[in-house]
Amino acid sequence: MTANPAPTETVANGATEHVRSYYAATAHPAPERPALPSDQRTQVCIVGAGFSGLATALHLLERGFDVTVLEAARVGWGASGRNGGQLVNGYSRDLDVIEKRYGEQAARDLGAMAFEGAAIIRELVARYDIACGLRDGGVFAAMTRRQLAELEEKRASWEAFGHGQLEMLDAETMRNHVATDLYVGGLYDGRGGHLHPLNLCLGEAAAIERLGGTIHEQTPVTWVEPGSPAVVHTPRGTVRADWVVLCGNAYLGDTEPRLRDRVMPVSTQVITTEPISSERLERLLPAQTCVEDCNYILDYYRPTEDNRILFGGGTIYGGTEPADIIGKLRPNLARTFPELADCRIDYAWSGNFALTLTRIPHMGRLNEGIYFTHGYSGHGVTTTHLAGRLLAEAISGEPERFEAFARLRNYPFPGGRRLRVPLTVAGAWYYRAREKLGL
Ligand SMILES: Cc1cc2nc3c(=O)[nH]c(=O)nc-3n(C[C@H](O)[C@H](O)[C@H](O)COP(=O)(O)OP(=O)(O)OC[C@H]3O[C@@H](n4cnc5c(N)ncnc54)[C@H](O)[C@@H]3O)c2cc1C
Repeated sequence: MTANPAPTETVANGATEHVRSYYAATAHPAPERPALPSDQRTQVCIVGAGFSGLATALHLLERGFDVTVLEAARVGWGASGRNGGQLVNGYSRDLDVIEKRYGEQAARDLGAMAFEGAAIIRELVARYDIACGLRDGGVFAAMTRRQLAELEEKRASWEAFGHGQLEMLDAETMRNHVATDLYVGGLYDGRGGHLHPLNLCLGEAAAIERLGGTIHEQTPVTWVEPGSPAVVHTPRGTVRADWVVLCGNAYLGDTEPRLRDRVMPVSTQVITTEPISSERLERLLPAQTCVEDCNYILDYYRPTEDNRILFGGGTIYGGTEPADIIGKLRPNLARTFPELADCRIDYAWSGNFALTLTRIPHMGRLNEGIYFTHGYSGHGVTTTHLAGRLLAEAISGEPERFEAFARLRNYPFPGGRRLRVPLTVAGAWYYRAREKLGL
């Protein structure tokens, strides 16, 4: 099978069905939710049905709010339904970097919330009985001594915030998790894990509806008119709402000009092998944990419930899709597991996450009542769920924890639309060159 030949999907160019991914092929049956047919009134209108939008909706419904979710395509169509499925604790930048940039208080505030997203996912899966193949345990893999030393610092910093399920691995104990010669060691995180992200999205959507919330698919929001109430415009109707939460992340495009240059879409690709024998899988990934390496442009992989290896990697700034995804990722798979060099690849796809200049998520308020969250910079499975809870707290009149993120300064990408990609590529080249030179 070849990679999905479609050009880069954006809501703007009209792709409205799931990409041809392993996840779409193995998703639980879900209803098609009709487009918004006419003008409506609600308390909270959420734009985007990825993890950010779904988690915000669920937390608000649990607090008794009336909620309507508008999704341009399908539930989980964006990054949330096509990612690596890895529950990664913490943020895209370590707490020491956050402290250097934003100060001690910010590091303390964010550190106290660094493991909450994964806990929320486990709570939701249990409370709403969501079948999404959740498995505990993830590994950060070090390819150099320097990376291993950084993992040791991460362990110390996370333990200081109360994380008690961490274990440093040397080259030998690393082999209890992954049979490859690539790594000098790693860090095991018992509170990490992995799951089928599209099935988590679909389970959360079903829970939203059970709690009385409404979801309209195939409903692109074209404009949010500030006011009291705000008016959310779509092709066939409007939604008047006391609060609006923008959760379009890398796919929001030009919907809200004030957010346009605050994040940059970046694509990353995923392939899935043919099913392999249980013996082979147990040999290659003995503990069934997920793995991500510590490189600037990282590889991430995990076993699936039906004995495949799902392998992701690569980044393309600007969010375009490479013509040959398998050709791009097969060498990385073969470098990790030489015996899989020639195995059949059944699925290959691409998706966009939203990068901020600082790699710290960007949350805030645009007008009275209009909130947003985005920019998890590649580590969003857990942080989206935290963001959902924080937004629900803020809308309920308890903004303190939301403010801990909202007051962190976000910078627009230098160079504007035209130059931001080449400038970021140059920056990434610099960091990768340092990595290769061991600097
Ligand atoms: C290939 C890939 C692998 C990844 N792997 C991991 C991983 O293993 N672990 C991890 O932690 N993170 C990973 N990430 C990042 C993670 O998936 C994202 O950070 C997270 O899913 C973002 O969720 P979201 O809800 O904010 O955005 P999305 O899931 O992208 O959802 C945004 C939704 O908003 C909708 N939308 C946009 N504009 C409009 C509009 N105007 N009107 C209506 N709807 C609109 C879109 O259609 C979309 O469905 C990965 C990302 C990708 C792309």
